Amino acid sequence: MTARIIDGKAVAQQTEAEAAAAIAGLSRTPGLAVVRVGNDPASEIYVRSKAKKARELGIEGSELVYPETMSERELLDVIEQLNHDDAIDGILVQLPLPKHINARNVIDAISPAKDVDGFHPVTVGLLHLGRPSFAPCTPAGVIRLIEATGESIEGKHAVVIGRSDIVGKPMGALLLQRNATVTICHSKTRDLPAIARQADILIAAIGRPIFVTADFVKDGAIVIDVGMNRVGPEFASQIAHDAEKTRLLEKNGTVLLGDVDYARVRERASWITPVPGGVGPMTIAMLMQNTVTAAQRRRA
Ligand code: NAP
Repeated sequence: MTARIIDGKAVAQQTEAEAAAAIAGLSRTPGLAVVRVGNDPASEIYVRSKAKKARELGIEGSELVYPETMSERELLDVIEQLNHDDAIDGILVQLPLPKHINARNVIDAISPAKDVDGFHPVTVGLLHLGRPSFAPCTPAGVIRLIEATGESIEGKHAVVIGRSDIVGKPMGALLLQRNATVTICHSKTRDLPAIARQADILIAAIGRPIFVTADFVKDGAIVIDVGMNRVGPEFASQIAHDAEKTRLLEKNGTVLLGDVDYARVRERASWITPVPGGVGPMTIAMLMQNTVTAAQRRRA
């Protein structure tokens, strides 16, 4: 079997079009504040693209950038102002923060009504209770991708590899809400390949390049690859069987790999997400969705 590809860019575009239509129906322009502290180059790109996408869809997306030397107190004051700013529906603080700032204190300071990243403990609690909240964007995007296959989630055995607060744990909660039977695996899990092979839906959120080999995958499984790992020439021999990744590595000196050995797993799965172009584009799309939801709830 050769898997069909789940086109994350197309599903993200559709999600964004739905968000834009909902925005057009609102009485006031929603506002999203994206906060960045310091000069982490990856954060700079993420924050810029989030604010830009917001503006494209008709959200007032503002980028608030502060120097590395900002104190925790100053950042908490900014959050407090945003919490009380009626024009702001969503607040996102880009992580990681500089070491002298306790990210937990900052996340805890965000008003749950504006917590569009879904990381506040109240938001997390509501999610696990199955009550209306904001689902963290990456796992919420994964659900959209699975739904885009037309396959139902109910009754299927979903195996999630990874138990982080931003991906693995909320992923498990969202799948459970949709009546999957859920197994969450992590670095202490024994005989991981045997457990993964039971999965009708296998989700890899580990952060280890091409860790999930064909040996982990049952014939016909849906495989979702959350991992994003940039590697260099040291990986050449491990991706020699993948002509496209090898070509990209030779051309650019680095290549972006998922947690899944795409070339080999594709021969076994029924559906698979590529990296890039799978889960990645969905994360920003779901952030837009959450911002629209926040605006709708605050103005209801
Ligand atoms: P993380 O916080 O580092 O968590 C990784 C998880 O993988 C942990 O639960 C860890 O287990 C587990 N793990 C590590 N090695 C393992 C092994 N050998 N066997 C089984 N489990 C193992 O990472 P994350 O933030 O969830 O991100 C995971 C990946 O997704 C990364 O590549 C990241 O770049 C990517 N990501 C992509 C997006 C996107 O928009 N596409 C968004 C977020 C993250 P323990 O808990 O036991 O340590």
